[in-house]
Amino acid sequence: MGDQRVVLISANWKMHLNHVEALELVQQLEGHLRASGIPAGREVSTHSPFTSLAAVKAAIEADHVPFALGAQSCHFRDAGSYTGEVSAGMLATLKVRYVIAGHSERRAQCGETGEVVSDKVDAIYRDAMRPILCVGETAGERHSGVAEKKVRRQVAAALGDRPAELVAAAVIAYEPLWAIGAGEAATPEEADEMCAVVRDELGQLAGADVPAMVRIHYGGSVTAETSEALLGAQNVDGFLVGGASLDAEQFAAIVIG
Ligand code: PEP
Repeated sequence: MGDQRVVLISANWKMHLNHVEALELVQQLEGHLRASGIPAGREVSTHSPFTSLAAVKAAIEADHVPFALGAQSCHFRDAGSYTGEVSAGMLATLKVRYVIAGHSERRAQCGETGEVVSDKVDAIYRDAMRPILCVGETAGERHSGVAEKKVRRQVAAALGDRPAELVAAAVIAYEPLWAIGAGEAATPEEADEMCAVVRDELGQLAGADVPAMVRIHYGGSVTAETSEALLGAQNVDGFLVGGASLDAEQFAAIVIG
């Protein structure tokens, strides 16, 4: 496990919740976590739509909720004529700590190539934030035996030729596309196997010391029922949670464990 074994649990709200609803969810979460607190050795990040970032920031600061502010994406350029886009610098000004890069929905729906994802990772680092790099294979790729090759290629495309300390600061989310939104997560064995592949690739890219420093998420239909068994997998250091993160009780249960 990486990063002094601090488990990171990240809520990807996708295109859900306006800023009023986002605020309500933070307050509900805070209520569910008040009694137990976030267990030692666990960290939580929330990835709201851009329009809710300022409201979530204000809520977590006002109520002293120890959530890290996260974003779902950013542009790879620092500024310019990119209508509708948001730069890494704009996010950093809001004190965003983690930015998702290369989510499969953006790769598929917005045509984000490996090169674009790599440039985003650089933009995120330029503004002193940390990327959560998403990688994962389709069901077809798994069935045809190319899953490992695909995942290694995505990791190398985004993090290759970088100094070891930058690779070590990344969070990788292994998210098999066949499990995202499917209602059924990968088994702990399946998650562990591919997270181990990611770790091995990181070692090849950045040296033998690096893999143990990198946190590797599993993502894909994680629920309170499946989370602890998945976290028991040796190579799983946390989660990127979609659907279940929109339900305060369910997400708090995943955080508490
Ligand atoms: C995701 O899209 O990042 C994700 C993990 O979604 P879900 O938990 O809904 O499968």
